[in-house]
Amino acid sequence: MKLSSQKNDTVTMTNCDREPIHVIEKAQQHGVIIVVNTHTQKVLQASENCITILGKNTKEIVDQELEKTVSNTIAKDLFDKINKKETLYPYHAQFSGEKYLLIPHISETNQLIIDIEPLGKNIDPILFQEELTKILKEIKDTDPIEEMCNQAALLIKNLYGYDRVMMYRFDEQWNGEVVAEAREKELESWLGLHYPATDIPEPARKIFFKQGVRMICDVNHHPAALLPNLDEKINLSKSELRGVSPIHIEYLKNMNVGASLTVAIILNGKLWGLIACHHYSTKFINYHQRQSCKFLAQVFSNKLALRTSNNFLDKIHLSEKIRKELILQLDYISNFDQALSLYKPNFTDIIESTGGAIYNNEKLTLVGKTPTEKQVLKIISKVLSNTEENVFYTQQLTKYYAKASKFAEKASGVLSIRIGNEENYLIWFRPEESTTITWGGNPKKNGSIKDGVEYLHPRKSFEKWTEKISGIAKPWKNYDVEAASNLKESITHILVKKQKDQIKELNESLLDVNKELETFSYSVSHDLKAPLRGIEGYTRILIQKYFDKLDEFGQNALKTILSSAEEMDLLIEDILTYSKVGQNKLNITNYNPKHQIENIIASQNIKLEYPNIQIDIADNLPNIIGDKRMLLQVFSNLISNAVKYSSKEKNPKIEIGFYIHDKNTIYYIKDNGIGFKDDFKNKIFDVFSRFVNGSEFKGSGIGLATVKKAVEKHQGKIWAESILGKGATFYFYVSVSEK
Ligand code: ADP
Repeated sequence: MKLSSQKNDTVTMTNCDREPIHVIEKAQQHGVIIVVNTHTQKVLQASENCITILGKNTKEIVDQELEKTVSNTIAKDLFDKINKKETLYPYHAQFSGEKYLLIPHISETNQLIIDIEPLGKNIDPILFQEELTKILKEIKDTDPIEEMCNQAALLIKNLYGYDRVMMYRFDEQWNGEVVAEAREKELESWLGLHYPATDIPEPARKIFFKQGVRMICDVNHHPAALLPNLDEKINLSKSELRGVSPIHIEYLKNMNVGASLTVAIILNGKLWGLIACHHYSTKFINYHQRQSCKFLAQVFSNKLALRTSNNFLDKIHLSEKIRKELILQLDYISNFDQALSLYKPNFTDIIESTGGAIYNNEKLTLVGKTPTEKQVLKIISKVLSNTEENVFYTQQLTKYYAKASKFAEKASGVLSIRIGNEENYLIWFRPEESTTITWGGNPKKNGSIKDGVEYLHPRKSFEKWTEKISGIAKPWKNYDVEAASNLKESITHILVKKQKDQIKELNESLLDVNKELETFSYSVSHDLKAPLRGIEGYTRILIQKYFDKLDEFGQNALKTILSSAEEMDLLIEDILTYSKVGQNKLNITNYNPKHQIENIIASQNIKLEYPNIQIDIADNLPNIIGDKRMLLQVFSNLISNAVKYSSKEKNPKIEIGFYIHDKNTIYYIKDNGIGFKDDFKNKIFDVFSRFVNGSEFKGSGIGLATVKKAVEKHQGKIWAESILGKGATFYFYVSVSEK
């Protein structure tokens, strides 16, 4: 059988999810739909059954002002409200002496749609109030969800008198399950039955979501077409009387249902399920009853939301407790894997699971019931490494790794978190739950194939059909994922803290070592000085008293001893200065270094010793802020080096100047001496690094290291540029502030 929707739009399996049920331009037989142009206020369309209620046929209504069909007052009030964009409410009206309700709304295509339906039995406001209070009282959010569902089903059955009321819950794939049911005794129970997603296809779900409540009061009715046919489609999705999809009608007929009422249960902005009411003969409940039913669904949804969030909070509370204990363990026990796996609680306790694995720095630790090491490593390489997610979970591992079916009884469900940025993971496993799902009919048999196209075909048979499901674990819930994410965050936090502590410790021990070294070299140099004084003193005495009595060898030997002692004295002096730089506190002043530089030149006897050296000092040398004594060492070392390493040039020239860069005053000492290879421009600042011929240029290799230390103590920087044979320039700046 080939099914067709309105205007012969054939509905196939491939397009059934797009069946245009919102534009089914038909009305259910028990009422009349009128479509009105809001600008001209004239009727555009009316359902062909309008004569039965309004006493006029469509030709008499269409193209006429609305006020000619409904009363003047109603029409005026309606357009007034529309103009002021106010909410539209139903009106009571009488046609041919019968009472009706006019339910107006503005469609998504911007027409005024009026549903006219029988008023039905009068609602006693006190009774109505009582009904609502009862609803509020009887559904308790402290009850388990199943119990709440049972309560709601029973309440609705008692209030509206449908033969069967079911609470129908959707799963993640939109398959439905009857989770609660209240029914007439003689009816067979459908509790626990599952229905495939195709039973309530996407367009229908969308409309339920928007409209909230939907009544079909006679499955066998003859729908009344809206006349005349317009080119423009009118969106009737919010109409109370909108005609029913022929597929749905056939579906209901196959179930022998005579009338139905469906109410959406919306939880956290998503369709959670439906309250599905079936009656085995025709049944009409009026607009107010339907509204109260909608209200009931809302109350139920709110309580459900509260219940699920309480559930969530309970679980999270529990996992938080375990998380805190694990964190303590991680804090005290340095071995990460042991901290999480050896003690009670271990990490698998935080989430309901049968086992888990820690993969840390390529080491695998298994806890509880798990696949073999080899299999877990495969899960990591085939699944976890390939996902971008930091938290990954599935209840059906075979979807990602087909061979996982071999160990489905240990790990069908996998939840994992990535630790740090590395490929390190914590993994939880859940075994397959071999469940038997009972479907309300074979879910796979609802289409028929003709000419290669599968046509949607509502199931005729609703006989229970059982299916054994394997390889699927109990689903991971949002609180499981939340617990895993929280643990991940805490672990990251701890690891970072541990790393920080380690670095701090290392830094502290380095500082200690440095200090020790400084004190050591200071005392060593001091201790060396005393015997050296002795050597020097006695050598001088020897030279003074016995020089002439010695032969040439003896004389040369004495000279060598003396110069070696002097050299050693210099070296010790340099080491002493170097170690002192780190020890003294800065005594900061703001002064002009020009005078200091001139003094250095004078005290080093430069002009006398090297009369042909030209030294230019910039006139406007700016002030410098720093420790005067320490900066004296800086200038002094740099100047004496410049003199030393340029002194053998023909026209040695030294320039002392400055420039401003990035708010820093950069001082430089430039010479035209021997220079050094670019490769050495950093090494020359290391202790004992010399890149010159030692017999040609005397020195200890400590001067620049001392200078660097002094500059860095001033939060400054020093660097050098040179071309071998063409001179060198040393630059530095300091950046401490005066206080
Ligand atoms: P010293 O001058 O006692 O050897 P320094 O620490 O002052 O020790 O300098 C380290 C090394 O850097 C020197 O041995 C030399 O190789 C190089 N150097 C320093 N200043 C200059 C300069 N102005 N020109 C060329 N080379 C230099």
